[in-house]
Amino acid sequence: MSRFWSNIVSELTPYVPGEQPKLPGLIKLNTNENPYGPSPQVLAAISAAANEQLRLYPDPSGSALKQTLADYHGLSTAQVFVGNGSDEVLALAFMALLKHEAPLLFPDISYSFYPVYCKLYGIDYRTVPLDETMHIRPQDYSGACGAIIFPNPNAPTGIGLLLDGVEAMLRAHPDAVVVVDEAYVDFGAESAASLVERYPNLLVVQTLSKSRSLAGLRVGFALGHPDLIEALERVKNSFNSYPLDRLALAGAAASFEDEAYFQQTRAAVIASREQLTQELEGLGFEVLPSQANFVFARHDAHDAAQLAAALRARSIIVRHFTAPRISQYLRISIGTGQECAALVQALRAILPQAD
Ligand code: PMP
Repeated sequence: MSRFWSNIVSELTPYVPGEQPKLPGLIKLNTNENPYGPSPQVLAAISAAANEQLRLYPDPSGSALKQTLADYHGLSTAQVFVGNGSDEVLALAFMALLKHEAPLLFPDISYSFYPVYCKLYGIDYRTVPLDETMHIRPQDYSGACGAIIFPNPNAPTGIGLLLDGVEAMLRAHPDAVVVVDEAYVDFGAESAASLVERYPNLLVVQTLSKSRSLAGLRVGFALGHPDLIEALERVKNSFNSYPLDRLALAGAAASFEDEAYFQQTRAAVIASREQLTQELEGLGFEVLPSQANFVFARHDAHDAAQLAAALRARSIIVRHFTAPRISQYLRISIGTGQECAALVQALRAILPQAD
């Protein structure tokens, strides 16, 4: 790139999302999607919205979905924000709430989007190392800071932080916004949604992509004090005054009306995770205790990059990261029972031959 703007472009380091391969027939365990489809009620609601309402603009306030979410979490609609996937909600939170003179803190091993947003918005940040067991240690966040963000359970480790740890951070920094990114919380961690009324500095961000099987619909939301929500609304409205399209509004609300389906698929994923963990341990893997819909596992005797390549050669895709402390781990999304069995079978075939 030779033009005068080439420097500006090269400074923009985009987030690279997990691969979405175009080849059919792959066992895709790399981006933590739910192996089960969304509830039939969701599909019916989307289809009804498509048939009857697409001619019309969507509700610019998203009020019906906000009401559904507020009711579900025992909050008011002024404490709810909705957006296009939690990535958009997080992006708006970084822009509206996380830029301060003191640095933003987040774990050194966490969602790789955070440093990308910081660079994009010129936010000063400092990463806080996980402890030797790969847990977030709340007391390590007690120093001066402008704000804090972390996933709970953490990604890609899958390890959850108990609510008293979250509260310790909220109490240590009453004037700093603490964002808890709960993308995977429904698979076994404790949600901080119950703390929203008590801590005006707390913003909880969740998504419908994982536990509600709606990654393709792009719906995320935030829960927090009305002032924090208002900040997000003001920034969002400067870009696009429609929070979500009609299909997303209809489908998202319907997913909260089918609690039985949600509980059933959630329990199935958790059961598969526990079984896969045991099987991987049986094959000699060390598996971190996961409260998410993926496991993070390493094998002392085998190189993770080579294992990932060998699985890929057998049409199974898992995630491998190159960052130093985690380069010997594989992140494996929980698939259907059949997909997990195919993974274990492939590993059994690969392991004696790997390096
Ligand atoms: N937070 C974390 C920790 C994630 O892993 C992801 C998924 N990549 C997201 C947020 C964003 O998910 P979505 O935009 O699909 O809601």
